[in-house]
Amino acid sequence: MRYDCAIIGGGPAGLNAALVLGRSRRNVILFDDDSGRNLVTRESHGFITRDGIKPAEFKRLAHEDIAKYDSVEIKQDRVMTINRITETHYELTTSSGKTYHSIKIILATGLKEQQPNIPDIEKFYGTSLFSCPYCDGWELRDQPLAVIADKSVFELAKKVYTWSRDLVVFTNGEGRLELEDRDKLIAKGIKVREDLIDGLEGENGQLRSVRLEDGTLVDRIGGFVTPLWNHAADFGKELGCEENQYGGIKTDEYGRTNVWNVYAAGDASLIVPAQLVIAAGEGSAAAIGVNGDLTNEYFDAEE
Ligand SMILES: Cc1cc2nc3c(=O)[nH]c(=O)nc-3n(C[C@H](O)[C@H](O)[C@H](O)COP(=O)(O)OP(=O)(O)OC[C@H]3O[C@@H](n4cnc5c(N)ncnc54)[C@H](O)[C@@H]3O)c2cc1C
Repeated sequence: MRYDCAIIGGGPAGLNAALVLGRSRRNVILFDDDSGRNLVTRESHGFITRDGIKPAEFKRLAHEDIAKYDSVEIKQDRVMTINRITETHYELTTSSGKTYHSIKIILATGLKEQQPNIPDIEKFYGTSLFSCPYCDGWELRDQPLAVIADKSVFELAKKVYTWSRDLVVFTNGEGRLELEDRDKLIAKGIKVREDLIDGLEGENGQLRSVRLEDGTLVDRIGGFVTPLWNHAADFGKELGCEENQYGGIKTDEYGRTNVWNVYAAGDASLIVPAQLVIAAGEGSAAAIGVNGDLTNEYFDAEE
């Protein structure tokens, strides 16, 4: 069977694309290996009607919505390769050894994160340490917080100051903060520690203190870090898609990339701002792009 569209990624972008294409009566296959980067967190915030939802529950509800549309299949499988077979036809292979064929492709593979090199940081990330103040700042409001980053630490601290004024900025090494920015932070009552971080202390994901190289413990109950963001899959690059200024897959407003029949949506194309509701909106726009293009192509081809 040849699908109208194969969607790679079952986060909000891919799921919303599947919903809109199912409602457009298109034969769709969605692949998801269920390793979305937000699965480490207990609650997601800021999606109207779904504020505070668990990521797994969000996915369950999305699958329930999509199940109403018979022409959409969801496979829990990892796409390994995507190859162009003809001008209008892609072949996909998956980690389970299966092969699929599709006319159009939506890349909604999201990002993966690389945390700063601080021992034990993964134990706290998603529970009391987060990367996005819009997602988790409200829950940490007015609390004693750590802001951990290097080059972007000043901008991150300024942002977090909206939610709490009890901040300690950790640069995890000297010379990572401009002197002028350091003075601005100190003038606002924000403490700055430029020592190397030796580790983090706490239990069950709940941060208690940041341990510095000289053994000093700085009490903090949570905070924000800046990981490095990389693509969770390299299909954009492999298929020849251009990148935008943030390193995401460049698209037009309907998710079209520069490669014919390849579309992208969500964090994979945006990088920032990374939000569930924005990713879902992008998925919807890409689906409308796919359906509009299929409509034109099929309508012209029909007798
Ligand atoms: C700790 C944390 C907390 C967050 N909290 C919030 C919040 O409170 N509110 C908010 O709005 N946003 C939050 N975000 C951001 C939000 O999760 C993302 O912006 C959003 O999930 C992006 O959606 P997406 O569909 O583009 O990508 P993702 O949700 O990352 O989904 C991509 C999917 O593609 C799959 N995939 C990747 N490659 C392949 C492949 N080759 N084959 C098959 N499947 C593949 C992945 O397994 C994943 O399931 C948070 C992020 C993190 C890390």
